[in-house]
Amino acid sequence: MNTSRSARLFSEAQQLIPGGVNSPVRAFRSVGGQPRFIARAKGSRLYDVDGNTYVDYVLSWGPMILGHAPAPVISAIRKAAGNGTSYGAPTELEVALARMIREAFPSMEKVRLVSSGTEAVMSAIRVARGFTKRDSILKFEGCYHGHSDYLLAKAGSGLATLGIPDSPGVPADFAKHTLTAPYNDIDAVKQLIAEHHHQLACIILEPIAGNMGVVPPAPDFLSALRRLTAEHDILLIFDEVISGFRVNYGGAQALYGIKPDLTVLGKIIGGGLPVGAYGGRKEIMDLIAPSGPVYQAGTLSGNPLAVTAGIATLKQLSAKGVYKKLEEKSAALAKGIGDAAKKAGIPLTQTRVGSMLTSFFTSGPVRDWNTVRQSDTKRYGQFFHKMLEQGIYLAPSQFEAAFLSTTHTSADIEKTIRAAHAAFKTL
Ligand SMILES: *Cc1c(COP(=O)(O)O)cnc(C)c1O
Repeated sequence: MNTSRSARLFSEAQQLIPGGVNSPVRAFRSVGGQPRFIARAKGSRLYDVDGNTYVDYVLSWGPMILGHAPAPVISAIRKAAGNGTSYGAPTELEVALARMIREAFPSMEKVRLVSSGTEAVMSAIRVARGFTKRDSILKFEGCYHGHSDYLLAKAGSGLATLGIPDSPGVPADFAKHTLTAPYNDIDAVKQLIAEHHHQLACIILEPIAGNMGVVPPAPDFLSALRRLTAEHDILLIFDEVISGFRVNYGGAQALYGIKPDLTVLGKIIGGGLPVGAYGGRKEIMDLIAPSGPVYQAGTLSGNPLAVTAGIATLKQLSAKGVYKKLEEKSAALAKGIGDAAKKAGIPLTQTRVGSMLTSFFTSGPVRDWNTVRQSDTKRYGQFFHKMLEQGIYLAPSQFEAAFLSTTHTSADIEKTIRAAHAAFKTL
């Protein structure tokens, strides 16, 4: 596979952009090698600048659930562009998207649109603090909630301690309000609540973890969190930036039947353009400016192009049978990869909820950051490159989800499984 043009662009990019990329994981650091520069994409396929073709399981890290460049979305964007790209004044489109979101997520009685998941999470936490008049938050190890200061904190391993910043540039004074617990560990949460409930504004989590690879919630984990938070007037925030409109139309909260106080969305609701959203109980959301004193604003919030892409995407997803087909294809892919690993004698632990899935190179089981990180990341890197050489584009990190789109065909999946057989044999 010739990748010389990608290589040339990458060395040029590194002179101009930190690490050559505008978001770190794109640089392939955790699998080694050089990233491919993408020229265009259509359906399940990516085409790089050297003319190589890949079946894409990254899908822009989740948003492209309809595959790349879906005709109804692209034509809606084209039409919207002709009407101007930003007004700084309200539009009918924003009302339409807010209504679609509320219909899919009844717990989001009111919704505010922003431009990214990071911004949505940051704003949801601000209003949770404003509402409860408390400063501390509790998050889980291995859950990612965007790159805002408070959320780049995790504690050392083991039972949660006070947050220590993960990144230089985050003042320890900020991170100290962030408590962390292992995912799926309700006893750790109970202990933290016992010690800190007077300071705890909210508990935030990915109801299906996707940013340490896919780790589903243990049975009763979410319902126990709901019960404990309600008992202590702590707000429960579901970060459904990945799972929203991914695992089904109503997200993880519909799948598991849990109603959070606040929900954060992103990725799919922008249809590949920048949109985030947060929403929840009316009395909480009414604290946000201009109806209340909690300030949050955005020049490009509710941008007409982005909102148009979101509306067009959700329309396609609301059609009957979409999630059932995604489920069938994803199950077939997971089974095929699992069988291939077994045949090659490679220990693999697979997790999957609908069309988000991970194959961990560990004998498992996985339930939190401490167990997923037992994975053999070196072996994953080798597997990743063997797949890439065969035209299969997986996430360039063990600790990410693979995603399927409605455009992935049975032929794509068979090709992927064949490639996996060949790749496992060489490991
Ligand atoms: C991607 C992601 C975010 C951040 O969204 P951005 O649009 O990248 O800022 C937040 N939470 C979760 C769960 C995510 O997967």
